[in-house]
Amino acid sequence: MKKVLCPKCDNTVTFNERKYEEGRSLFFVCPRCGKKFSIQINQTKADDTPQYGHIIVLENAYCYRQQLPLFAGDNIIGRRSKGTNIHVPIESSDTTMERQHCIINISVNKQGKTIYTLRDFPSTSGTFLKHKLLNKRERVILENGSIVTIGATTFIVYLSEEEQTYTD
Ligand SMILES: [Zn+2]
Repeated sequence: MKKVLCPKCDNTVTFNERKYEEGRSLFFVCPRCGKKFSIQINQTKADDTPQYGHIIVLENAYCYRQQLPLFAGDNIIGRRSKGTNIHVPIESSDTTMERQHCIINISVNKQGKTIYTLRDFPSTSGTFLKHKLLNKRERVILENGSIVTIGATTFIVYLSEEEQTYTD
């Protein structure tokens, strides 16, 4: 069973994800406030906004697998919550992941290379890159496939396709 948060009242709604196919939209009616909303399992990018890669949030006891896009500049990452506007809202009931937990910054350097850096927001429980805790004010450079843990939640960073190197 998985949980989603009602976008209106933050009530937790439980559903059985095994009953649904990947890529399908799931429709819910919040039992507390009556709000109708939908989520999509394994959602793919849907618009034309220039995108600099994405993160994939791994499935755990608190959330389903999610793919969320990254954009130029600061991308504030945290637990999706009513009333907190962030760039990368992760739909999860993991309360050890804060509403504003860490930031991925994407900028282009003088050589025209896109640089991805990670820093803590700051959060109480900290931000981990490959299980190593970032110091306060520390900025680390991310690579394609970097593994980041915030609270009980882990995500993998995928750089934009132009930045990836492929080997045969
Ligand atoms: Zn509700």
